[in-house]
Amino acid sequence: MRLFARHFEIALFVNDVTFVLYGITMMPNNADTIVVGLGAMGSAAVYQLAKRGHRVLGIDQLSPPHDYGSSHGETRIIRQAIGEGEEYVPLALRSYELWREIEREAGKELLVITGGLILESQQSNSMMHGRRHFLAQSTQCAKRFNIRHEILEPRDIRQRYPQFAVTNEWGYFEYETGYLRPESCVEAQLHLAKRHGANLQTHEKVLAINPDGLNRGVLVKTDRAVYGADKLIIAAGSWVPQFLKPSHAQHFKVYRQVMFWFRIRDDLQNQFLRGKFPIFIWVFGNRENNVFYGFPSLDGKTIKMADEQYVKVTTPEQVDREITAAEKNAMYENYVLGRLPDITNACDEAASCLYTTTPDSNFVIDFYPEQPQVLIASPCSGHGFKHSAAVGEVLAELVVEGKSKIDISSFGIDRFNATPSLGGKGTSG
Ligand SMILES: Cc1cc2nc3c(=O)[nH]c(=O)nc-3n(C[C@H](O)[C@H](O)[C@H](O)COP(=O)(O)OP(=O)(O)OC[C@H]3O[C@@H](n4cnc5c(N)ncnc54)[C@H](O)[C@@H]3O)c2cc1C
Repeated sequence: MRLFARHFEIALFVNDVTFVLYGITMMPNNADTIVVGLGAMGSAAVYQLAKRGHRVLGIDQLSPPHDYGSSHGETRIIRQAIGEGEEYVPLALRSYELWREIEREAGKELLVITGGLILESQQSNSMMHGRRHFLAQSTQCAKRFNIRHEILEPRDIRQRYPQFAVTNEWGYFEYETGYLRPESCVEAQLHLAKRHGANLQTHEKVLAINPDGLNRGVLVKTDRAVYGADKLIIAAGSWVPQFLKPSHAQHFKVYRQVMFWFRIRDDLQNQFLRGKFPIFIWVFGNRENNVFYGFPSLDGKTIKMADEQYVKVTTPEQVDREITAAEKNAMYENYVLGRLPDITNACDEAASCLYTTTPDSNFVIDFYPEQPQVLIASPCSGHGFKHSAAVGEVLAELVVEGKSKIDISSFGIDRFNATPSLGGKGTSG
């Protein structure tokens, strides 16, 4: 174990590993950077840091990929014209490049291009990820960034994709939309990070994070040990509020979402394979939750679809992971019925997942106020996976060089006017 000396103002974990000599504390320096959480954001961060030759220690309470957080369920949409805001486009475009790089390095298919269709009627006032007029926003974004797309009238949609029973919806079709395999993406980046020398500890829970006395490094206390490092990245997804003081934590809300796999009519299964059926996002009404999305069939028998709900706040510990028959019926009747007539009401599988949202549905990627050695990168409000490869690169650049090539100024934590200071369970300040 390497030790480095620092003047210490407050004695932390005195009975664990630190010992004080004449006012100087000898702290373990286990890594240049510790990453807490190894899901989508954390796996990308450890990979990018290790690739740069950085000494990185990644810690996760579970063994990712797992299905207790936000990065599971077979598929995640990736698209280029980001209706959530133009500030995301550089992240998305860079992620496309990085996913291909990771595929080459790992020798695994992670990203599949299918084409994607956003359907919305001009009367609709519903929201997708907190944005109204999602089709118009995506179109505007595509024009600005020269992203290959087509606008389809209702009759074009009926002709090209008779699987959708559209009435007065228009379509935005994007050629490079596709899906990522989230579990494989996480697994591949963790594997590559290790290959580049990262130390990854799983089934180890972080209990407390403390700045050191001079506020230059961090001490991370887990259920097994205490580790010291110069920098810390908190990528704890839905658990992130546990590391923040209440004044910050209050801005991050966790919502349970459900993904459903509904059976295709036996005689029409080939109509829903990729090549024949695109990824879709359908915004159809005026209520907040009048939106659902789906994927081409991966197994030739079912398609995965999901809605979004923001009614009941939960936590990863309290969330009900069982899906009831009533929920499956409601999904079918409120969304699928009358819109995808070749999809039956037989739901073969369903799984819960967690959205971590912020008040404006935008990301937080920022140094913690007054703690320049701590970076937060987690609450991704239901649209983070596609960007996670580039977020990992941004985090590595911030840690190593102090600034990132991609502008992340829209994702500052200060926009919520929270009181600046690091909290965390058992923290001393
Ligand atoms: C149903 C659903 C559909 C989605 N669809 C899309 C989509 O189509 N496209 C898209 O771009 N995005 C989508 N998203 C969003 C995207 O999946 C998330 O933004 C992303 O997966 C979040 O990753 P994360 O790294 O922040 O969290 P996670 O992957 O959950 O990782 C957090 C990790 O932190 C660990 N951790 C937490 N606390 C501790 C602790 N104390 N000690 C040690 N480890 C800890 C956890 O064990 C976990 O492994 C969707 C999300 C859901 C739920």
